[in-house]
Amino acid sequence: FVHQLADESVGMDELLISPLRLEPEASLPLPLDLYGAGRRNSAGLDLTVEPMRAPLLAAYAATALPAVPEFDVKTTSSAYQTSAMSYQKWSKTPVHERSAILRRAADALEAELPRFCALMVKEAFKTWGDSVAEVREAADFLRYYANEAERIMVPVALPGPTGESNELRLTARGVWVCISPWNFPLAIFMGQVAAALATGNTVLAKPAEQTPAVAFEAVRLLHRAGVPEGALQLAHGPGDTVGAALVAQPGIAGVVFTGSTEVARIINRALAAKDGPIVPLIAETGGINAMLVDSTALPEQVADAVLQSSFRSAGQRCSALRLLCVHEGIADGVIEMIRGAAKELVAGDPADLATDVGPVIDRQAWGAIRRHLERLVSTSKPVTVIEDSTQSATNPIANLIPPSAFEVAAVADVQQEIFGPVLHIVRWRGDPAAVIDQINALGYGLTLGIQTRIDSRAQALAARARVGNVYINRNMIGAVVGVQPFGGEGLSGTGPKAGGPHYLARFCAEQTVTVNT
Ligand code: GLU
Repeated sequence: FVHQLADESVGMDELLISPLRLEPEASLPLPLDLYGAGRRNSAGLDLTVEPMRAPLLAAYAATALPAVPEFDVKTTSSAYQTSAMSYQKWSKTPVHERSAILRRAADALEAELPRFCALMVKEAFKTWGDSVAEVREAADFLRYYANEAERIMVPVALPGPTGESNELRLTARGVWVCISPWNFPLAIFMGQVAAALATGNTVLAKPAEQTPAVAFEAVRLLHRAGVPEGALQLAHGPGDTVGAALVAQPGIAGVVFTGSTEVARIINRALAAKDGPIVPLIAETGGINAMLVDSTALPEQVADAVLQSSFRSAGQRCSALRLLCVHEGIADGVIEMIRGAAKELVAGDPADLATDVGPVIDRQAWGAIRRHLERLVSTSKPVTVIEDSTQSATNPIANLIPPSAFEVAAVADVQQEIFGPVLHIVRWRGDPAAVIDQINALGYGLTLGIQTRIDSRAQALAARARVGNVYINRNMIGAVVGVQPFGGEGLSGTGPKAGGPHYLARFCAEQTVTVNT
């Protein structure tokens, strides 16, 4: 064992192996005052939906997807005018009133949890567990940003010379364009919109074209809670027409976008090419997220974390694990455990409560993942390919990709984010810092998992990694609002982090007022 550690370049001072720490139970309550007295938050992943079976299935039977009208790009300018007019009033509405409206929306969302879950299962093919977690996350965003706006939108007196007073004030900027993805059709949609609204901005919101119904219902809920109709308008349609028209609209104050790196670049270029004021972009994009496992790691914990991180949500999270880098000394055992555990996963109909892995979002995504799998089959060593139990001639589930894992030769073999339940595994030996350098060289920087029982090593590797979110000895998805502020750097985005204390300031203008007293 010591020999093996020496091979991993462990210094003598690091040989103090820390005790085993299993992941905390995901159901452990977080501090209850996190978002205000008695408010629950999304608190992790391991939701048992079984106790909610009756209301969820009743909502599923009773809920139909609404038909959402497409936005006509010819009306972009008048939609903008409406938003700009509404801004005059909304930006002057006291922050406590705006926050009260957002809190009301959070309460309403929780009261309607089964219906919103049903919408997500039907429109985005989410599992029930993911849907319940997402409704709670959306409520968390509403409450967290309501609190944050009240915290930061108060003038701060700054020290200065006698005979002068100085004050720093945050104000709204204007009309924001919010462009959100299909993989979190409620939580990310709501997070972007709530951030802009809480800070007194008004919003033109373009949801992903695959998930307009969830967005439509979210907007209706916000309007019912008291957000003026002009302050929040929905613009449903394709990115290259509707999204492009909104971004090109003169006068917009900012764009917040979550989606692919490629589209973030297109938006960035379009904004840069505009005349007039420089328009800020907040972009949260993809990642080629890795987990580094050294030979001191606990294989059971690794296997559990890998399954959650790679296959939950059918791998359709930008935080998901794509590349497992496992020390060769324990690789066989870890891979065997992953293979065994993955076989227990049920891939199938998302409406079934027992399903762990539902279909991917659409045929196009399915085709892209299949093509990648075909390449892997011919070039790599399959570790596990899980058969979907429900797939049969009589009961085909469209666009299902059963989870699979493949061994590849090197970190650099994975250059592209594959947005599905596909794991790449690399064996390493030598210095783990060199592996981190290879991961950094991929250029993305969203999430990183580290599994080791050497605490000093975990901290050193975390500091070396150019990523936004590091998870040590646990899974690496499901960032909790206000607890694990989420977002990356490099090809993974601009920051600031969603659900973190610096997010709202980016939606604001700052004014310093100096008075000669
Ligand atoms: N915040 C989510 C998580 O931590 C991921 C968000 C995304 O996929 O865009 O898993």
